[in-house]
Amino acid sequence: MRIAGTVQDSIVDGAGLRFVVFTQGCPHGCDGCHNPETHDFAGGIEREVASVVAEMLANPLTDGVTLSGGEPFAQARDCAEIAAAAKSNGLNVWVYSGWTFEELLEQSRGDTDTRRLLGLADVLVDGRFELPLRSLDLKFRGSRNQRILDVPASLAANVAVIREK
Ligand code: SF4
Repeated sequence: MRIAGTVQDSIVDGAGLRFVVFTQGCPHGCDGCHNPETHDFAGGIEREVASVVAEMLANPLTDGVTLSGGEPFAQARDCAEIAAAAKSNGLNVWVYSGWTFEELLEQSRGDTDTRRLLGLADVLVDGRFELPLRSLDLKFRGSRNQRILDVPASLAANVAVIREK
């Protein structure tokens, strides 16, 4: 898979202490994006999924993995492998996407990798970064349009369900 980088011990990319994978490549082109270096699908570095998983599991204090970007769903198959390894080792899974839950649900009907990654996610922070809606007061998201969703509840209800604090 292609990634921009990884971060250990993050407390700003989801609840608890997190291992973060910044995937490389993003099709959304949000105005004001903070990570423009992650947009090029040919940029970043190539990493074996197994090596990313080993890095994730190396820290026994980690609460969960956050798949961020870039756009994780552009590499849904590899991200789902990481998410599956996280879940089977007791870690929770947060995923950031420029696509909304509704868009991902639609995509998942024709794409098993998207369906699998969505099904493994505990939390989805969804939607493009909208510069006019930016606020520095928002926890774990950049603009007010973005939602922090309880994915299992959303999938069960077939409608986006906001995660309770
Ligand atoms: S989805 Fe995220 S990484 Fe992609 S352009 Fe928008 S803010 Fe940047």
